[in-house]
Formats: sequence, structure tokens, C-alpha cells
Amino acid sequence: MTLQAFLEGELAARREADLYRRRRVSESPAGAEIVIDGRRLLNFASNDYLGLAGHPEVAKALARGAERWGAGSGAAHLVTGHQAPHHALEAELAAFTDRPRALLFSTGYMANLGIVAALLDRGDTVFEDRLNHASLLDAGILSRARLRRYAHADAADLETRLAAAESGRRLVVTDGVFSMDGDVAPLPALAAACARHDAWLMVDDAHGLGVLGVGGRGSLAAADLDMDAVPVLMGTLGKAFGTFGAFVAGSEALIEYLIQAARPYVYTTALPAAVAEATRAALRLARTEDWRREKLAALVQRFRRGANELGLPLMASETPIQPVLLGSAERALEVSARLQEAGILVPAIRPPTVPAGTARLRITFSAAHTEAQVDRLLAALDEAGVAA
Ligand SMILES: *Cc1c(COP(=O)(O)O)cnc(C)c1O
Repeated sequence: MTLQAFLEGELAARREADLYRRRRVSESPAGAEIVIDGRRLLNFASNDYLGLAGHPEVAKALARGAERWGAGSGAAHLVTGHQAPHHALEAELAAFTDRPRALLFSTGYMANLGIVAALLDRGDTVFEDRLNHASLLDAGILSRARLRRYAHADAADLETRLAAAESGRRLVVTDGVFSMDGDVAPLPALAAACARHDAWLMVDDAHGLGVLGVGGRGSLAAADLDMDAVPVLMGTLGKAFGTFGAFVAGSEALIEYLIQAARPYVYTTALPAAVAEATRAALRLARTEDWRREKLAALVQRFRRGANELGLPLMASETPIQPVLLGSAERALEVSARLQEAGILVPAIRPPTVPAGTARLRITFSAAHTEAQVDRLLAALDEAGVAA
């Protein structure tokens, strides 16, 4: 088969199954509204939970950072790319998560690959929630450890699998808040199972940090779990913090080991120092402006109340990720298109991002939204005939 024939076959199969993906070109900064194809749409599609991605103070910190530090870091962290703003941000992230050290990565995807593959090898076992983020599943595969997937949010199923595990190191990996479902992992039960079976627990809190817990300290803080219970905490900076990059926080030894052994840390260019400066500004706002979390929670409650009155098929989520379960990819696409006609952007999430038969709308809320905008969304969902 020629390459061309292979590619065309693959693309045709995806079109046929309503799984073809297209990019939209946005002509506006991130915010409650977005301009696409010259059209202004209400944006319920981003992970900018606190409304910081377009915040003028954060943008100014980026601009000032670029004036002072230039556009690029010029090298990897272990060469000459580790600049003072990166170092300061790491110290601030460590303090924020109440851990001795933090280590910056260029993206969350790379952080997950780097952490899991550095901690495990052939002969070890990684246990993953079935609905973990793709980067965590890929990390498990890259590590060459045995990959065991346990039933979603099911600590009893995890425990059964831990009890049956062969020798070697055991790492249990979970999203803190599940990215496509919005529910929170049963962290205390997972931590207890890990303690009983001599396993290490790693939490990817991409959607919890900034949003949950006092001061936005995330799902571990909300569950009152410390570093003994969860030795490896990973977070991203492109969601609630509104910028770009990721980090891991933990013990002195964990961070020093990852600096030596995490290949996606060692063999990549450090993110620009200006981005680190922007993130420092965003972290300050996220930590101190509780009104953002309060407003966000009130908008989510308003949406859930209205959606329940309309009989919409909501899922069991209390977080700003509010999926509406539709089933088939075709139906999800059709409703998403209908909403777009009404001036509202809500993405259809289809397999393989979610299991077959569970295609959905993934509605996300931001502190940048208004109550009137939430009401407009509810009216459009009603109009689109989404009620169960
Ligand atoms: C977004 C996300 C990532 C990847 O982070 P990036 O910085 O965007 O690469 C990892 N894990 C989860 C749960 C995520 O939602």
C-alpha cells in the first residue's frame, strides 16, 4: 500500500464514523467570548476556569518578561535554559502546594510521560483509572511497566488488582478531577489502598488546582491529603492558571531524581522565562482572589439547577466541567452544531477521547462568564431539544 492510499483510507474511515476532527481558527484572545470565522460566540469550551488567560496583569507580566528575558530560554534546563524566573516560579509552586520542591515541565503531557517513565521500568506495574487523561495512559505505555486499568473511581477494584500484583514497584495514577467527566477521584480511598499495598500514589490535578480547595490548592487540599498519602502531585499551568507549562511537586529527593532521570525534562527546551513570569502573576491572582472561585461555583450551581429543571442528562459533577451525555457521536455533533448556530460554542467530545456510546457535550465554566450568559446557554440547550 502506498502512503497516500493509507492516509486517505484512514481519513475516510474517520469521516464515515463521525470522528473526523477539525480545527477552528480563533481570531480573539481567550475569554468568555470567542471570534471564529468573523462570528462572535459565547465560549463554553475552554479550561480557563478563573478567567486568567486573557487577564491584563498576566499579559503585562508576559510582555515585561519578554522585554527583560527575551523570547526564548535558548536551551534545556540542564544546559543554560534554567533562568531566575523559572527558579522563582518553582519555589512559589512548592509553597502553593505545601511541598518542599517543585519542578517545571514544558507541558503537562511531557510531565506525565517524564514522571511515570522515570519511576517505573520493565517488571513494575502501573495502575490507572480507566478514564485517566490520555497523557497518563501514554506515560504508562512508555514506562514499559505492566499497565493495569481499574474501574473508574473504584478503589475496591484497585485494591483487588493491587493484591494480585506481581513483584516490582507499584505506581497508582489518577486524575484528581476527571477531564471529560468532571467528577473528583475518591482520593482518600485510593490513598488508603496504596498504603495497605505498598504502592505509590500520583495525582494529576490539571483540573483541580486553582479551582478546588482553600486558596485553589486543589483536590488534595480539598481532601486534606498530605505528601505521605500522595507523594507525587502533578499540575498544569495552561488551565486555571491561564498560561502554559506544567509542574510536579514533592519531596527534595523526588525532584532531584526527576531532574536526573525524566527524559522529557532533560531533552527539551525550557519554556520561555516570560511565560514563567506570566505564570507567577497568574498564581498570585489565583491564590488571592477567592471571588473567582466563589463566582465560578455559583455559576456552576446556577447551571445545574436550570439544567435539572429542563431535564438535561447531566453527569455527577460538581466542578466547572459539566458534561451533557448524548450517546452517539452523530448526536453530539448535531447538538454542538445547533448550539453554534445559536451563537454558543460547546464542543462535542467523541471516542476515542471518551468510551464508545458516551459522546457528550463538554461544557466548561469560567469566572469570566456572567449569569446572563449561563441563562443563554440553558435556553439554547432547551431549544436544541437536549432533554432526556
Ligand atoms: C490538559 C491535561 C494534561 C496535559 O497538559 P498540557 O500542559 O496541556 O500538555 C494532562 N493531564 C490532564 C488531566 C489534562 O487535563
